[in-house]
Amino acid sequence: MNIAYAKPLRNSTEILGLPVDNVGMPEAMDAIKRMLGEDASHIVITADSSGLVIAQNDPEYRQIIREADLVTPDSYGVVWAVKRKGGTVRERVAGVELVDKLSRLSADKGYRIFLLGSAPGVAELAAERLKLLHPGCNIVGTRHGYFPADSDTVVAQEIALTKPDILFVAMGIPRQEKFIKQTQGIIKAKVAIGVGGSLDVYSGKTKRAPVLIQKLRVEWLWRLLLNPKKWAKAKTLPKFALMVLRSR
Ligand code: UDP
Repeated sequence: MNIAYAKPLRNSTEILGLPVDNVGMPEAMDAIKRMLGEDASHIVITADSSGLVIAQNDPEYRQIIREADLVTPDSYGVVWAVKRKGGTVRERVAGVELVDKLSRLSADKGYRIFLLGSAPGVAELAAERLKLLHPGCNIVGTRHGYFPADSDTVVAQEIALTKPDILFVAMGIPRQEKFIKQTQGIIKAKVAIGVGGSLDVYSGKTKRAPVLIQKLRVEWLWRLLLNPKKWAKAKTLPKFALMVLRSR
């Protein structure tokens, strides 16, 4: 299987020197379905504001985003930045939603899914929940995400044995993307996506905000208030806004 480096012509907008694709959920799903039909492995990045700020000082992560096959706008901050530059993005395409949509696709088409990441036990619970939500969803393996980077190859070899088509990695930015890139040639999943705290959400460990809060587009604020660990990340938001406003 090849690693896909030749990108088709893309409709993307450059934010802080990095491409963000002008996709909503339907276009992102179409692109991913296309990738699943190809005999190659692909990387999808769900870009939020903190990720784009981190990438400014992390050349490896920056390069991974540049070479990714699809970069979706995962946060309202990124949607705002894209619109400000004349891009046509209408909505967020969040990792947590992609997990749901692709699990449903797996139930329909049999695609093999592997869930990697989060604390011990969480990926298993998330798998059970996803199978309840989408009966027939083909989750072929799970593993927690607490292992040192020098074990990446061994972990990748274990995952490769399950022959996943879709690999979700929930280990936080940029660790999850670096794991995906470095092990792409071993695991050979057709699509690999870093999905942050999504497995915590599906396991029930993190509750999604009430629908009203989601509709008001302040779910990030809800999560922030409930989880002090996220406060450091939130500090990057004004920095992101300033950097975008200063950029051309
Ligand atoms: N995590 C992990 N391994 C680590 C560090 C973190 O699997 O070495 C998990 C953590 O348990 C959590 C997720 O990675 O489930 C990070 O979630 P967060 O929402 O902070 O992700 P980000 O916003 O960075 O995408």
